[in-house]
Amino acid sequence: MTRVFSGIKPTGHLTLGNYLGAVRRWAGEDQHRSDALFCVVDLHALTVDHDPARVRRLSRQAASLLLAAGLDPELCTVFVQSHVDEHARLSYVLECVATDGEMRRMIQYKEKAARERERGGSVRLSLLTYPVLMAADILAYGTDDVPVGNDQTQHVELARDLAVRFNQRYGHTFVVPRATSPAVAARVMNLQEPVSKMGKSDDVGPGIVYLLDEPDVVRKKVMRAVTDSGREVVYDRKERPGPANLLEILAACTGGEPAELAGAYDSYGALKKDTAEAVVEVLRPVRERHQELCADPGYVEGVLREGARKARAMARPTVDAAYRAIGL
Ligand code: ADP
Repeated sequence: MTRVFSGIKPTGHLTLGNYLGAVRRWAGEDQHRSDALFCVVDLHALTVDHDPARVRRLSRQAASLLLAAGLDPELCTVFVQSHVDEHARLSYVLECVATDGEMRRMIQYKEKAARERERGGSVRLSLLTYPVLMAADILAYGTDDVPVGNDQTQHVELARDLAVRFNQRYGHTFVVPRATSPAVAARVMNLQEPVSKMGKSDDVGPGIVYLLDEPDVVRKKVMRAVTDSGREVVYDRKERPGPANLLEILAACTGGEPAELAGAYDSYGALKKDTAEAVVEVLRPVRERHQELCADPGYVEGVLREGARKARAMARPTVDAAYRAIGL
């Protein structure tokens, strides 16, 4: 049986990128495939300057949005990372297998550390070691598949490398995982800056569509998306990133192919209008269900409590085995 694990950081409000790149698949085929686990990775939210009350609030909101998006606690395990000590326990052991050079080469580390320094801040050590904790998240559960957007593939590669290295040095302990990314919308771009990813951790901006945006807000953001001065609608990610992003979003929402959809439009206005409506329709049920869940916070708390209990029981044997193998 295939074991699936993936997570989301409570560093901001969930975006259309998170949904199309990851969460929608979790709620679709992934949760049906096996003993899938989906986690709000709150420890990862502490790697940059953070407000404790906000992280706590966003963790609950992320969990509630995962359920609103269709994760079913009868089928899969939904929990919060810090509720399960095994993640931090295993992370330390994996730090003894990873190298500092490996950590410094991570693209996200380089980008985020540069941003912190530009702001005049200092870089937390946990930002450097974050991919090891992420490897622990994955390896603790004997994970085979990690469904993520393609911004995370380098981190999943590291988890693979650490699993292989640990197994070679200390005996077979970990399953070697692999990343699975969607065919379209593996990297949804910012509508105002289509060369950067639409990221929830970035500043709030008109180029980011949030899962909880009202339909009119979604329409406004999509209608104002940056395109270019071209007259024809063509799908070309490199040369025409703005229209290509809209075509990918439309394709992901309607089930079409971006290049084929391009041929159906003779103006950017019409493409934007259809994309806006498609996004509104995809997000509508998530927003409605989230409102229902907000009225019943006890339900979400109960799901998370039970999820942590199940996750702990699944992780403990592997983490105990890793401790024994490494000499503890
Ligand atoms: P963020 O970068 O928005 O803070 P996370 O690191 O919490 O998001 O990632 C949660 C999931 O959403 C990951 O699987 C990640 O690959 C995916 N994801 C994040 N942003 C995008 C995007 N713009 N397009 C596609 N997938 C994305």
